[in-house]
Amino acid sequence: MLIPAKSLLVKARAKKYAVPAFNINNLETLQAVMSAAVSMKSPVIIQTSEGAIEYAGMDYLIALVRVAAQTKLPIVLHLDHGKDLKLIKRAIDSGYTSVMFDGSSEAYADNVRNTKLVVKWARTKKISVEAEIGVLAGIEDKVSVVERGATMTDPKQALEFATKTECDSLAVAIGTSHGAFKFAEKNHPHLDLPRLEAIAQLVKIPIVLHGASGVREDVLKIAVHYGAKLGEARGILDQDIKAAIFRGVAKVNIDTDLRLAFTAGVREAVADSPSVIDPRKLLMPARLLMTEIAKQKMKLFGSAGKA
Ligand SMILES: [Zn+2]
Repeated sequence: MLIPAKSLLVKARAKKYAVPAFNINNLETLQAVMSAAVSMKSPVIIQTSEGAIEYAGMDYLIALVRVAAQTKLPIVLHLDHGKDLKLIKRAIDSGYTSVMFDGSSEAYADNVRNTKLVVKWARTKKISVEAEIGVLAGIEDKVSVVERGATMTDPKQALEFATKTECDSLAVAIGTSHGAFKFAEKNHPHLDLPRLEAIAQLVKIPIVLHGASGVREDVLKIAVHYGAKLGEARGILDQDIKAAIFRGVAKVNIDTDLRLAFTAGVREAVADSPSVIDPRKLLMPARLLMTEIAKQKMKLFGSAGKA
């Protein structure tokens, strides 16, 4: 069933696990995520970026997720990185059960004002709001920040922001970046865990970790073997994700890992079956690989068995 994110995330933070939030933009990715959720008995957040809505259409995506949510499992339909207030309003009015307002690149006062406005809209429909303070580096749909311009979240400002805006969850910048090239400047992946701890001591609402893909070696190998050129792609270590969840992160976003699995699966199928023109046969391996990735995340985040 479709539910707002708030109660799921509050419970997850209290019990020290995280609900996985997967970005989807087509049928196969949604099916993979749902298949994993059903077999792992995990709550799940299905999220669409503004780019996904541009690609597939908001009405198509809502319809797909409504069908997927015809189960007893708790499912959230969430707008990821909403920046366009008109689009956010439309999502709230059209059946999304959670929205993110991302004003992290705005001046602080504007971020506060706009987040409050979105919270006001969301309350009329009893749905949840995620907000962001601090700027994440990297590239995602419609999100592009020069790495050196990115700023980490200040714990005291995070508390003031959460109190003023009354948002339900808070995305923080603690050293992750979007895309497949996390920590490009450094030789080893690193989350600023002391900073997260300081934030979590002050901010009692669920904390959200973006840019949290692991970039699995085996999946990367398949993609590269079949011609993908991905350079020095590198993700976050599983142990760092666990440490972050232990310190208050209750929602972990995953986009890159599913994209990599999709790419690896499609490339392999196309290369190995030159005479096949059936899209179902070409997309099936990608769907299976994405299911496997989603299951692994549910185990890692501790959400398996929590539905
Ligand atoms: Zn993000």
